[in-house]
Amino acid sequence: MKQFNTLLEAAKCAATRCESFRFATSNDRYDVKDLLVLAETSDSEDPIDEDNFYVVSPAGSIGLCEDGEDIDWLFLTVSSTDENLPTTLQTTSQIKFCSKCGSRVILGASFCGTCGKKLN
Ligand SMILES: [Zn+2]
Repeated sequence: MKQFNTLLEAAKCAATRCESFRFATSNDRYDVKDLLVLAETSDSEDPIDEDNFYVVSPAGSIGLCEDGEDIDWLFLTVSSTDENLPTTLQTTSQIKFCSKCGSRVILGASFCGTCGKKLN
C-alpha cells in the first residue's frame, strides 16, 4: 500500500478510486469535496506524528498507520463495504521467523537463510 504523510495527500489518492466515503465509526457520508476539506483541516489542526502515516486501500479506504504497524481505518469507501481491510500493515505480517535460530526469514522461503533449517 502507498504511504502518505498528510491526510490531504491520502484523500487526493483515495479520490481517484472512489467518489463517496463514510467514517469508519459512524454513518456520516462524505463526497470527494467534503473529504478534501476535512483532510486539509485535519492536517493543519491535528498533524500526525513523524512515525505515523496514512495508507489508502486499493478500493480507496483511508487508514492511519501508527509506527508502521497497526492500521486504524478512518474512512471507508461506500462502494466497497465488504472490502477486506487489513488491521496491520501487510509488510509487517509478511515477516516470519525461523523456528530454530529465530532469524527473520522471507515468507514463502523454503529454507532459513541463516541456519539452513527447512521451513514449512
Ligand atoms: Zn534459522
